[in-house]
Amino acid sequence: MKSVVKKGFVYLVGAGPGRADLITVRGAEVLRTADCVICDKLTNPALLNLAPKNVEIIFVPKRTPAGGFSQEEINRLLVEKASGGKTVVRLKGGDPCIFGRCAEELAVLIEAGINFELVPGVTAGIAAADYTGILLTDRQYSSQVVFVTGQEAEGKQQSNIDWKWLAKFQGTIVFYMGVGNLNFITQQLIENGMAADTPAAVIADATLPGQSVVKATLGRVSEKCKQDKIEPPAIVIIGAAADSDVRMDWFTKKPLFGKNIVVTRDVFGNADFAARIICRGGNPIEFTTMKIKPLTESNEFLRAVARLGRAEFDWVIFTSANGVSIFFDALQGLGKDARVFGPARVAAIGSETAVKLSEFGIKADFVPTVYTGEQLGKQLMCFTNLQDKKILLLRSQLASNELVEILEQAGADVLDAAIYTAIEQKSESNWLIEKIGRGEIDWLTFASPSSARMFFEQVPIGVVNPGNVKVASIGPTTSEQLKNLGVRIDVTAEEHTIDGLLDAIEKTHL
Ligand code: SAH
Repeated sequence: MKSVVKKGFVYLVGAGPGRADLITVRGAEVLRTADCVICDKLTNPALLNLAPKNVEIIFVPKRTPAGGFSQEEINRLLVEKASGGKTVVRLKGGDPCIFGRCAEELAVLIEAGINFELVPGVTAGIAAADYTGILLTDRQYSSQVVFVTGQEAEGKQQSNIDWKWLAKFQGTIVFYMGVGNLNFITQQLIENGMAADTPAAVIADATLPGQSVVKATLGRVSEKCKQDKIEPPAIVIIGAAADSDVRMDWFTKKPLFGKNIVVTRDVFGNADFAARIICRGGNPIEFTTMKIKPLTESNEFLRAVARLGRAEFDWVIFTSANGVSIFFDALQGLGKDARVFGPARVAAIGSETAVKLSEFGIKADFVPTVYTGEQLGKQLMCFTNLQDKKILLLRSQLASNELVEILEQAGADVLDAAIYTAIEQKSESNWLIEKIGRGEIDWLTFASPSSARMFFEQVPIGVVNPGNVKVASIGPTTSEQLKNLGVRIDVTAEEHTIDGLLDAIEKTHL
């Protein structure tokens, strides 16, 4: 019998202009099905978290003297991967078909008989305008908009750009890849009759925490970009639209815009924290201090789950969202699910832990009003009589004994089961020490006593204490650890969650 070779499929997906969450729902959906992702330089690496764990990832930056891939090599790679039967996602910045060399990639796929889908993306020209409050087509001054490349294909004999026509264009002109050539572009327009006082705006790193904007007249904009050291990727907008109302500039007015904030958790915790900082306009700087290690293969844990299944506990308590994820991962590995809780009631230390529980179908029966171990214990004993109640505490091995003591004093019988621990992970720290020394970091954040301890094993306290950088702590336990280490603290969050920590930082900037 003839063996049937499964043909692969290629999705050409627009990754959006920079910020990871500007990808489309369809783009995110197909990334989840990828066997292989082939990405451009301008695609946000955070998008790769959407792809399956065992996905093959290939970065294909454009060829420069320093290395990289030629378009032919990228084309070959696409065909090779898809011919092997794989689902390939070709992730391209912005929209795949706007100045994206899409035609060449589609031609080789068609030639090889490989099926494809084009998934649109938010193109940089539109995103840069929106993130600066520039309205590309406002009926008052612009009924037309044109997208132009500022850098035409190599080896092209004659320019496709009709400068005479463009100089007379009554509307908004959006240049891609124009910043390196800006002097030439503005000269061409002025020489062909466009007024030198026509408004212009250049937006670099649009939608990203480091977004910078230069606004000037056509005659002066190139010089101003040089002064401000504007570098690609940048979008150049020319026309009345570029002179936008500053009140519409919403992005740079976000409370944490331009603030460099170091996050010091484990890799996954940092990724979640970073996404929240980006939502508030800040620039997260990830510094990994530790690795979370599940301890759910221990006999102690397996015995605890078996007892839970026999309805031997009245309460189960979780003191972190990490603990919840690790517990349910382990349950799944044992072929069990949330029904293992049976009649037991469930308490969560705070809102983040409760939200994580709800992802697994469990509504916490109790959450204290203040999210600390001490308050959890004290408020739970007011909420219900704990005399002779059996409590299963599922938490970090590194947690203090305080909660157990409070529960036991209330008459409960507590099984304190360690389901994970944090192990120190060393990161390269010289770059961070230097940045702090130069005053380039605004905040260091600490979301647990362990991360504080492990951070200061890698960064000397003397670098931080002179006040070059501010220190924010999530709550009293973490603050106590910082104080014991001799670290000066600027703010402690009132609500002991990641968002509470960011609220506290925001308050100092109001
Ligand atoms: N297909 C892409 C464009 C690729 S050409 C799209 O639809 O957006 C590359 C050019 O896009 C850059 O030179 C720059 O002009 C623009 N660009 C891409 N990302 C950008 C960003 N975050 N900020 C400003 N310009 C960006």
